[in-house]
Amino acid sequence: MDRETKGQGRREGLVRPVRLVIGDKLLAELVGIAVEARPEEACGILVGRLEDGVARVDETPRSANRAADPRVAFELDPGAWVAAEDAVRGRGLTVLGFWHTHPRGSAEPSDMDLAHALPGMWNLVVDARGGHHAWLQPH
Ligand SMILES: [Zn+2]
Repeated sequence: MDRETKGQGRREGLVRPVRLVIGDKLLAELVGIAVEARPEEACGILVGRLEDGVARVDETPRSANRAADPRVAFELDPGAWVAAEDAVRGRGLTVLGFWHTHPRGSAEPSDMDLAHALPGMWNLVVDARGGHHAWLQPH
């Protein structure tokens, strides 16, 4: 079974519903990483396909967390992003966005998560208790 998360995409004043779909197995793996990485946050990249407004996640390569204090923040390794872009080339896949984990509390995005999210990219937060929250950052 796939887990579907709903978000809103805004383009040129038009609001259209879009979804991020991630399989239960991949989601469970990310929850496992959230547990294992405690007390630090873990992070990585969402790789998959865009089909008719649906973003389907196929792979979730992990990045090192380069934040000065990885217990309270995450910062992707730019090299991991470049590697993911190289890896998807010619395979019909694309970089959909990014994921990170919350070692404490819920998967609700923090003010910093919302402020630092890149426009047009999907964001997925997973907490150590199995909760998750996804959103498409507006342009
Ligand atoms: Zn966060």
